Amino acid sequence: MKIHLAKSSGFCFGVKRAINISRRTAKSQDNVYMLGNIVHNEDVIKEIAKTGIKKIKKLRKGKKRVLLIRAHGTGIKILAKAHRLGFKVVDATCPMVKEIHKIAQDMESKGFKIIVIGDKKHDEVQGIIGQLKRKALIIDGARGIPKQSLQKIKKAVVLAQSTQNNDEVLKIVKILKRHIKMIKFFNTICKPTRTKQQEIKKMPLQNELMIIIGSKTSANTKRLYQISRSLNKKSFWVQSGQELKPRWFKGIKTVGVAAGASTPDSTMKAVISQIRRLR
Ligand code: SF4
Repeated sequence: MKIHLAKSSGFCFGVKRAINISRRTAKSQDNVYMLGNIVHNEDVIKEIAKTGIKKIKKLRKGKKRVLLIRAHGTGIKILAKAHRLGFKVVDATCPMVKEIHKIAQDMESKGFKIIVIGDKKHDEVQGIIGQLKRKALIIDGARGIPKQSLQKIKKAVVLAQSTQNNDEVLKIVKILKRHIKMIKFFNTICKPTRTKQQEIKKMPLQNELMIIIGSKTSANTKRLYQISRSLNKKSFWVQSGQELKPRWFKGIKTVGVAAGASTPDSTMKAVISQIRRLR
């Protein structure tokens, strides 16, 4: 059985950067807090917890405390509140997410309605709309397009959550163009996501079986799995080697392996070793 690992598997630049900032901050400062998990991966979360960084749900008085902003970014109200409460802020927001924030603010100031294609509840999407003065429209899939209310929009800017499915986003933009006269589209899907998606469009056709590795909470891993499964029914999404089932591999000669942007190398290696043991 041959195992082919996607070249783009594992940590993207933004996740690596956020983890490094977290480690450095934990070493140099006391009382470091985060609103939620650093990235959507349980192994990384455990590792970061060991450094002493604590996860909190709400901001409370924070003298001599540090608030670490995660890779997904956050809204301006939260930042202002953190400063008001006395937190020192360390910002690990991915620069590519920051770029989306900038476009959103700039275009809103020019009078455009901001439309974000993304998962409504995802921290990144909340962070993007959290940059704005007026209510943004979030579109979560082509079926969720509110066609009736689009006619009221005179000019709009469309942005995408950085980890969206590129084909799906283009499809939504095409529909929006039919309903809104003046529309500008900024394809804000980040480069690491695009590279991963390009690879995952080929691998399921070149391998008999696909294993996608990553947390069930990871949006970009979910997307990789969805694309893979649409091309090859023998696609399975696992978080660890223990979830692999020997029956999946019966008679299989080629296995493709891909991992989401928040999946650590150690998890990938453990899953691949387990696949080798199952041969
Ligand atoms: S997936 Fe893209 S936007 Fe998100 S952290 Fe990674 S590089 Fe940044």
